[in-house]
Amino acid sequence: MKVAVILVGTELLNGGMLDTNSIYIAQELNKYGMEMEFKITVRDFKDEIYRAIDYCKKNVDLIIMSGGLGPTIDDITKDVIADYVKKPLIVDPEELEELKEKFKRGGYTFTNINKKEVEKPQGAITFKNDVGMAPAVYIDDIVAFPGVPKELYNMLPKFLNWYAKEKNLLDDEIYIKDLITYGIAESLLDEAVREFFTEDGIYYEFLVKDYGVLIRLQSKMSEKNKVEKIIKKIYNKIGEFIFGEDNDRLEKKVVELIKEKNLTISTAESCTGGMLASKLIDVSGVSENFYEGIVSYSNEAKMKRLGVSKETLEKYGAVSEETAREMLMGLHTDIGLATTGIAGPNGGTEEKPVGLVYMGIKIKNKIYIEKKIFKGDRNKVRERTVSHTLFKLIKILNEDV
Ligand code: ATP
Repeated sequence: MKVAVILVGTELLNGGMLDTNSIYIAQELNKYGMEMEFKITVRDFKDEIYRAIDYCKKNVDLIIMSGGLGPTIDDITKDVIADYVKKPLIVDPEELEELKEKFKRGGYTFTNINKKEVEKPQGAITFKNDVGMAPAVYIDDIVAFPGVPKELYNMLPKFLNWYAKEKNLLDDEIYIKDLITYGIAESLLDEAVREFFTEDGIYYEFLVKDYGVLIRLQSKMSEKNKVEKIIKKIYNKIGEFIFGEDNDRLEKKVVELIKEKNLTISTAESCTGGMLASKLIDVSGVSENFYEGIVSYSNEAKMKRLGVSKETLEKYGAVSEETAREMLMGLHTDIGLATTGIAGPNGGTEEKPVGLVYMGIKIKNKIYIEKKIFKGDRNKVRERTVSHTLFKLIKILNEDV
């Protein structure tokens, strides 16, 4: 089943807006074994949209469109589809009533131009929009969604579910499993897992994300058992580098573990400037465990807020194992995390180069300090410090506490 995506919106071509909808569409299509062959982005012009539909119609089985279903004058996607399939635009009185009801519930004034949001080519099927106004419209292997991402997210799964049944595609449904690794290079991962993929129809690839490298395993749903056996083998071989699966993230895993073990946590940050605290606070429900985050950037703050001694700072410097250790001593929860480093681009010396970071973890009076020299610009160094500290904490929590 070949699919093409047409993204409608002048703002996507003039630097005003970055297309993220097609990434989501591709991910959803994967689940059904449907492939996006290509995507076309067009401005809000009738002839451009028409030509894009015509080209796609001649090359693929299904066209998914996003954008231009709103009430304004530049929202013309449905007009062009109607033109293309040679059907008039009509309004279903029931759908119009529902739309008016939505306006009323939201406290908005319904005007005649809003009627356009429920227009559709005669004979089209619609999919309810639970989070916005215009429903998705399907006719003749062309489906159109609003551009607003959350509205697309609401209706695309419903549509694909229906379409897959309609076209008997369910046998082709795809099984995808992501194993999320941290701290091991892609090339080493490849060397480690390659031997497990000898059978046709079971694939793997690596996706590099800021929170780790994913090993994505993929097969037809009917081959899921075989993939699960491979997953076991991968865990046996390189389990120490895998911290989670699918939607797991480092911070989510940390919070899960500290909740499980009923531990409190706080942070003392220098070079990461609150990033570590912010990551943990991204996870909802952390308030029962997270006590405080101190951004002790200056030496004075390190002394005043955390009790780091002047002598230590003078003798070893702010970026040192000793300072990291004393920063930890200033935290009074079950777990303390501390970071101090040179994020750059300035401030490095031969002895202490840019990227040098000390990361400290204190768990119930046991202290672990790790020294690393991270590559990358200022922000990358800070992000890597955060990820590395969280990964190290997961390992300690899994093993020691
Ligand atoms: P509305 O009812 O809001 O007018 P619409 O279907 O007309 O919806 P557009 O006007 O094309 O949609 O886009 C609405 C908003 O959705 C855009 O301002 C933009 O923020 C977002 N958007 C549109 N296309 C994309 C895309 N491909 N990726 C990410 N966001 C998008």
